[in-house]
Amino acid sequence: MFSLTKKTIDKLLNSGFADEFDNDLNQKHVVVFSYLVFAISCFSMLVFFFLRQMPFMGIFSLGCLISALIGFRSNCLGDFGRAQLLIPIAKIIQITILSLFYFGASSSFHWVFVNVILYAVVVFRVDQAFSKYLIVVSSTVLFFVCEFLTLKDLYLTAEDQGFVEIITFFSVSFYFSVVVNLVMSRLKSVNRHLRTLAEKDELTGLSNRRKVLADAVNIFADSVINRESCVFAIVDLDHFKKINDTYGHEAGDLVLAQVANMMCSVIRPQDEIGRYGGEEFIVIMRDTNLKQAEGVVERIRQSVEDMLIETEQGIIIPVTISAGLASITSSVSRYEEILAQADKGLYIAKRNGRNRVFVQSDY
Ligand code: GH3
Ligand code: MG
Ligand code: MG
Repeated sequence: MFSLTKKTIDKLLNSGFADEFDNDLNQKHVVVFSYLVFAISCFSMLVFFFLRQMPFMGIFSLGCLISALIGFRSNCLGDFGRAQLLIPIAKIIQITILSLFYFGASSSFHWVFVNVILYAVVVFRVDQAFSKYLIVVSSTVLFFVCEFLTLKDLYLTAEDQGFVEIITFFSVSFYFSVVVNLVMSRLKSVNRHLRTLAEKDELTGLSNRRKVLADAVNIFADSVINRESCVFAIVDLDHFKKINDTYGHEAGDLVLAQVANMMCSVIRPQDEIGRYGGEEFIVIMRDTNLKQAEGVVERIRQSVEDMLIETEQGIIIPVTISAGLASITSSVSRYEEILAQADKGLYIAKRNGRNRVFVQSDY
């Protein structure tokens, strides 16, 4: 039930927008939210004024409702610029007319201008400073006009005025809190997205060097504290330069992506993998001894050898890997030392003819 409501709200807020990480999405959500609130308030007034048999105000509210629907529709059709401007203008006209000719200054209805000012501050970008300040200044001026201009013959009873005051207070607070919430939750999701981008290798989708080395530090420390065995492996594609030279750089990229995919499917859920650089990868196997780790990496080697990677021209590219493995020992105090040993193992695997796994033990 709750998730359905959340989904519906998300759908409404995103109506007309496709890109989840669009730079202006924050503003766009606030625009749509403002339209929804405006449409609901116009509809409520429409009903209220007709019940009170005040056809002029009823028709006026109907006009505001129609402008809300037109703006919302422009937005759904992709005309965000128009939608962005129409709502504050419609709101300014509505607040001014209703404050001056119906609710009166003592009702405090003109405090709804605070919504419009907040809207302008959040929604208009730096390059839309003119629109922003025009709306902020006109709302501020009209606020004071409503505050100080005393018009006679207002329709509201004293009781009604108290009611409008309460409604105004709650609607301004509600609007304020939702807009702040929208902005904050959007900032959080953008931060999460940026973090993922900063930690991910674009070509292979694996953790990038920075992330996998950060993981290495943590796993190394955990393993030392818990006195658990932990193995680091460096995996390197054999004669990859030749693959690039023979089949082209694009085919080389395809090989990297597919080999990375294959390695991900072979390692165990508790293992970490990342792209160390170029055609080199690191696999970190926690709570694993050298023998078990050798089994995992050997499976990777065999699976890569068995892969059928096909170019767009239908040519199969033969690919093999070599790997060096090393584990934590009592003499190791930094994770870089295990990596250096794994690298030595890789060098020996290459020297011994490639397409093999070499375990560095007893160093
Ligand atoms: P070895 O078996 O000794 O490892 O030989 P190698 O050719 O694999 O190693 P070398 O270090 O000589 O060449 C690595 C090549 O990987 C050179 C570089 O152009 C290529 N390379 C690095 N990153 C990428 C990449 O992202 N895409 C492609 N297509 N090639 C890359
Ligand atoms: Mg290589
Ligand atoms: Mg290399």
